[in-house]
Amino acid sequence: MKENTPTEPKASLNFLEQIITNDLASKSTGGKVHTRFPPEPNGYLHIGHAKSICLNFGLAQKFNGKCNLRFDDTNPTREEQEYVDSIKEDVRWLGFDWEDREYFASDYFEQLYEFAVYLVKKGKAYVCAMTAEEISAHRGTPAIPGKESPWRNRGVEENLDLLDRMRKGEFPDGSHVLRAKIDMGSPNMHMRDPVMYRIMHAHHHRTGDNWCIYPMYDWAHGQSDYIEGITHSICTLEFEVHRPLYEWFLNALDLPHLKPRQIEFARLNLTYTVMSKRKLLSLVQDKQVKGWDDPRMPTISGLRRRGYTPASIRMFADRVGVAKRENVIEVGLLEHCIREDLNKNAPRAMAVLNPVKLIIDNYPEGQVEEMPAVINPELPENGTRMVPFSRTLYIEREDFMENPPKKFFRLAPGAEVRLKYAYIIRCEHVVKDADGEISEIHCTYFPETRSGLPSDKKVKGTLHWVCPEHALEAEVRIYDRLFSVPEPEEVEDGQDFRMHLNPDSLKVVKAWVEPYVGDATAGQHYQFERNGYYVIDPDSKTGHLVFNRTVPLRDSWTKVEKNK
Ligand code: ATP
Ligand code: MG
Repeated sequence: MKENTPTEPKASLNFLEQIITNDLASKSTGGKVHTRFPPEPNGYLHIGHAKSICLNFGLAQKFNGKCNLRFDDTNPTREEQEYVDSIKEDVRWLGFDWEDREYFASDYFEQLYEFAVYLVKKGKAYVCAMTAEEISAHRGTPAIPGKESPWRNRGVEENLDLLDRMRKGEFPDGSHVLRAKIDMGSPNMHMRDPVMYRIMHAHHHRTGDNWCIYPMYDWAHGQSDYIEGITHSICTLEFEVHRPLYEWFLNALDLPHLKPRQIEFARLNLTYTVMSKRKLLSLVQDKQVKGWDDPRMPTISGLRRRGYTPASIRMFADRVGVAKRENVIEVGLLEHCIREDLNKNAPRAMAVLNPVKLIIDNYPEGQVEEMPAVINPELPENGTRMVPFSRTLYIEREDFMENPPKKFFRLAPGAEVRLKYAYIIRCEHVVKDADGEISEIHCTYFPETRSGLPSDKKVKGTLHWVCPEHALEAEVRIYDRLFSVPEPEEVEDGQDFRMHLNPDSLKVVKAWVEPYVGDATAGQHYQFERNGYYVIDPDSKTGHLVFNRTVPLRDSWTKVEKNK
């Protein structure tokens, strides 16, 4: 790992760690731990995948084992090299290293085919000429047994010949499939003679036109794990019902080596988020977002652009833990993790997003003082930056009220506040424009209250500010949740989850930022004091700074935790 995860190691073992500990003690996996992360390259990875990555690579690290990166590229029509590249970038960025173990299920196509021939020869697989609709109609329901295919009892030689001709491309798509011969009466639908190969005259992003039959995921997956010597095949709960099939295949193949052990855990679900790749793809295709890496997307690339750090995502994965039952995690926990990380690590800066002019009438005209300001109070060794201060400043419009309620500790006529790193000021009067809007706030300052000097004068409020003459103009993109309801995937039949898109998920404003951020490049984080965490966007150029708001400062999660 590149950074230290800013969390305490957990003392107790989760259920997966418990299983692995027992397997190591009993030597049932030969004293080894070998896991894998097996994405299908049909989309960009999201925070749910990040959970699985942290889990699989994390277990390998913890138990001194290995973790492979394997692309489950068995469906040529949906898969692309762009996705392969993005997946590699994201896993690496999260801080994990698969070393030289980058594999593709398509590398095993020949081996899988030989396995299939073996099953045919054993009388455990057959070529079926029913259409997809007929197969589905014959499958029955969980309560009603399926009907056997009329082709189920063909002889081995005929099956071998047909399979060979399927491979050679003699048949059109959909005319034949290879099926496992298991049990059409099984209460487990997955055991009712599942399809192993289908004919698809499609170009594959790696094997080109070498194949026109492609293995089904269920046929490829367990055997790929076996070929790689995976000891613990960790997958999400929906595959629990597939496990008997995976075990059936591995047993029927009479394999000589250790077989993988499948263990299921609950997939990560997050409030205000959709996690299905198909739905995320539809948002990209319909241009509801700017791309897979739009900072509102729950993709790893989106989170990165939003300003999430690898450490914060690993911390989140760790805090979520592993569950055996479906659950939904509050997105507030994710936001809490990034705040915790950035509070420790992000340099501070002052920025004004909605300015009003403040003029200090008794401050010498033309004078500029450089005020020392701590870069990060959590990391005093990082030193200070100098912030220019002058007679005319910008403060946030919200920090002034003409008729303030009680306990408004910011600026108001006659009120005194400290300008951070500078002086205490008192508001004397305001000037309004033709529309009645305040255009200038006039103040006096108390020279003896300069920050760092001993002074008895006390105030309740401290405001941030910038000096317009020196500040840099910036475009600031303020994001809100992409969906306006906690469970956007819950819609009635016939409704579309996109009805829950939040129309105000992006607001762009102009801001003024203190000059020292001008040297920073894309990916640099800041805490804008009293406001939130921001990151420089890749769209940023010299002369045109662009920031994304990662999260506001306020943390509702700590309140949630405290109230528990
Ligand atoms: P689909 O198969 O519908 O395209 P998927 O999200 O399952 O989508 P995969 O590429 O197959 O995509 O996922 C790769 C790995 O990530 C799998 O092992 C899967 O179990 C795991 N994974 C996917 N989504 C989640 C999630 N929300 N939480 C935890 N693990 C997940
Ligand atoms: Mg999947």
